[in-house]
Amino acid sequence: MGGHVGGGKGFQDRHIGPSGAQEEEMLSVLGYSNLKDFIADVVPENIVIEKKLAQVLDNAKSEVEVIDELRTLASENEIFTSLIGTGYYGTITPPVIKRNVLENPAWYTAYTPYQPEISQGRLEALFAFQTVITDMTGLAISNASMLDESTAAAEAMTLARRTSKAGDDAVFLIDHNVHPQTKAVVITRAKPLGIKVLEVDVLAVDPFLNFFGVLVQYPDTTGAMDDFSDLATQAHSKDALLIAATDLLALTLITAPGEWGADIAVGSAQRFGVPMGFGGPHAGFMAVRSGLERALPGRLIGQSVDAHGNPAFRLALQTREQHIRRDKATSNICTAQVLLANMSAFYSMWHGPKGLIEIAERVHGYTAALATVVESVNKSYFDTLTIKVADAAVVHKMAASLRINLGIVDAKHVRISIDETVTASKFAEIVSIFGAKVVSAQGSGISPAIKRTSTFLQHPVFNTYHSETSMMRYLRTLADRDLALDRTMIPLGSCTMKLNSVTEMEAVTWPEFASLHPFAPADQSKGSRKLIAQLSKWLVEITGYDAVSLQPNAGSQGEFAGLLAIRNYHDSRSEQERDICLIPSSAHGTNAASAVMAGMKVVVITCDEAGNVSLDDLKLKISEHAGKLAALMVTYPSTHGVFESAISEICALVHEAGGQVYVDGANLNALVGLAQPGKFGADVSHLNLHKTFCIPHGGGGPGVGPVIARAHLAPFLPNHPLDATAGPTTGPGPISGAPFGSASILPISWAYIRLMGGAGLTHATEVAILSANYMAARLKGSYPILYTGEKGLIAHECILDVREITKVSGVTVDDIAKRLMDFGFHAPTMSFPVPGTLMIEPTESEDILEMNRFIDAMIAIKYEIDEIIEGKVAVEDSALRHAPHTVGAVASNEWDRSYSRERGAFPATFTGLIPGELIGMKGKYWPTTGRIDGAYGDRNLVCSCPPIESFA
Ligand SMILES: *Cc1c(COP(=O)(O)O)cnc(C)c1O
Repeated sequence: MGGHVGGGKGFQDRHIGPSGAQEEEMLSVLGYSNLKDFIADVVPENIVIEKKLAQVLDNAKSEVEVIDELRTLASENEIFTSLIGTGYYGTITPPVIKRNVLENPAWYTAYTPYQPEISQGRLEALFAFQTVITDMTGLAISNASMLDESTAAAEAMTLARRTSKAGDDAVFLIDHNVHPQTKAVVITRAKPLGIKVLEVDVLAVDPFLNFFGVLVQYPDTTGAMDDFSDLATQAHSKDALLIAATDLLALTLITAPGEWGADIAVGSAQRFGVPMGFGGPHAGFMAVRSGLERALPGRLIGQSVDAHGNPAFRLALQTREQHIRRDKATSNICTAQVLLANMSAFYSMWHGPKGLIEIAERVHGYTAALATVVESVNKSYFDTLTIKVADAAVVHKMAASLRINLGIVDAKHVRISIDETVTASKFAEIVSIFGAKVVSAQGSGISPAIKRTSTFLQHPVFNTYHSETSMMRYLRTLADRDLALDRTMIPLGSCTMKLNSVTEMEAVTWPEFASLHPFAPADQSKGSRKLIAQLSKWLVEITGYDAVSLQPNAGSQGEFAGLLAIRNYHDSRSEQERDICLIPSSAHGTNAASAVMAGMKVVVITCDEAGNVSLDDLKLKISEHAGKLAALMVTYPSTHGVFESAISEICALVHEAGGQVYVDGANLNALVGLAQPGKFGADVSHLNLHKTFCIPHGGGGPGVGPVIARAHLAPFLPNHPLDATAGPTTGPGPISGAPFGSASILPISWAYIRLMGGAGLTHATEVAILSANYMAARLKGSYPILYTGEKGLIAHECILDVREITKVSGVTVDDIAKRLMDFGFHAPTMSFPVPGTLMIEPTESEDILEMNRFIDAMIAIKYEIDEIIEGKVAVEDSALRHAPHTVGAVASNEWDRSYSRERGAFPATFTGLIPGELIGMKGKYWPTTGRIDGAYGDRNLVCSCPPIESFA
């Protein structure tokens, strides 16, 4: 395929795991002689697209050609030194972290650590991240990352609304010196919830004003640090919460918000070693005072104990999350920013508290020296000055001639933020912009009153890995504990864990993409903008929609944006009363949580015995809510892993009743090239570029969740106050801090589409479906398949029903998941969308040998289950219940189990079910902890490293 140079295989054949012969083998197992007939039996006729994707998209390009094209696009970006600040700062990614984490598949191909026994490495890193945030902010509990600073501020507002006892008429205050993009995101989020936001000078606020929360920036967007302690007292007297948006580097030198009375701190960890990347991705953060932990959005890592009594990490308080609480969840965040949070944690370890203070003092020292020679309006400052000039245009021009970007204020002022990349020679250039000469600083921008006196990052983990050798080995040690795609298939249904190829990843760390400030002059990002426009066009062509916004930085955010578009569409037609969102019981938890954020009420639709949306219940609920129906939100193909042939009818019913149809596009990997949601009746979708379009999962983020819609909803897609090109003027405002969201990882999806071409993408979908059906066919003798389509076939994933097995044997999905670890596998998706089941999605990237290894492991596990059913062994004594087996457990002098050590640790060899050549393919993976007791950890919540006193 394609125009690959030098002969050999094209990229398509490298991305798609099964060879032609393997495809034939799978087809014959399923009783088909060709792929075309098989696909025709899977995909309902009424949704099949007429025009092949190959006729629409360009032909596949070779890897060499794609890298050349990306180089050309990169060369159209101009890399200036951006001293614009506003939440984004130059930083130096330590090369040891860049290569061993950001560019290392052991880190970037991992999944969210839902299976903690095989995730201790990244859990330890995230635990350290939480410790960085709690130590720096002076608050009790931090989560494991937010999507960005602006959305974190919006989430803090809703947290305040949920927990404050202030009445319904209480407003939310934003200080006038909060970063502009944060103000805008907060306002976008407040509107559908009916929250009134007032922008004020918080230090001059009317004492009689009734508010439930107040957001300040510390240091603020002008660079100044105000004393908000009286404001905090005033807020607390009204049972309102004070939220401080803050800066981690500044906090090394200034008093922590938790020390002067803030209840919540939010911000971005970007300048801790993560490139600006034209706006993202970076780890946002949120920390809260104690008492608010159960209301905290996002994932939280806690310490617990394993079966051997050893400490171990795992996700804590998951009962707060949307997959459990749905429309009552604390937030809709699912995919967060794990990879970037880990990088910032490692950056903190690399520099240690002393190193961070040194960086901060250097930055502040240059700022003070600059303040000495210019006319700064700041009474206080850390790294940012607002400077009075005779003519700002002249100053910006002078700066541009030195390839420096300054912040734009007005005709008489400019702004500058110094960062850790500024050297003595760069500083001399900066001073010359203002026609001055470098002198040593007179005074400081940090008054003694706000100088930080408390210590931070005293734990050994932040004071040990300062040499490259020790850091390299620490990173390797952590990575070795985890199972990522670089070791094994990860058959997580609904998550689409496919190949993230090196060629796709290449451009992410190129400085032309990585070093762009999101608010730099538009003519410096021509290459990125071209890439964004092309990717947008291709996504529109693939899905059959008309318009797309790449701004949402996860699927959950795309859901919110899409539902907001529906809401605003109804509003524009004076149908404000339409606020009911119908959601099938099988939906992902984010759907319900997003609907609530968009100000809608969730009404659940049941599913019939075949797992399809119940048409009867749908008709009933439509008539019950006639006139109030806003939307139906449905996943296609369904989370039950089937193509419902009634989808077009369902869409028509909703449209007839005046509603709009939202199709959750997380399962697009079963549709690309075969069917188009924009053509079979849907009005709007989100896509998950980190599922279908090869952005790696990063251990739980980053992601990109474009919102994509038909023309009538296009005017209501997100826009951005600082970039007019980022969306329609009629849009609802921004839903992410950056105009193009996580822009620096878009080259991954761009490259994937370019490398595959229309024919390759279509073939990938067909193989994804074929492989899923092959696995279902081979597993159904051991585990019943819960749902199938009309012809007995499934889509790209299938649900194994374990409920009957559990009833007769006591063996749970947990036991199976943990036993798979002894085989070296990651478990399938557990208990979603149906409790007591396992959902398997192989994707097109796994070859038949890997699928067979997994199938054989599952069959071997069934053999162990049968022993229990036959009464040969009690479930409590079984290897299944004791799984996973650590090296410590099987090498111990004590062994009182009913089975041998060999069987415990090497189940594949023992059962003899897995052919020798398949076992030999992989070395033994040893889980590093025994089974973890989650409940213990929730009762004894520990979410950050203990203070140094506990080591004395
Ligand atoms: C993954 C997923 C989501 C949420 O996407 P995130 O990017 O994790 O926010 C929503 N719906 C379905 C069906 C999914 O599989």
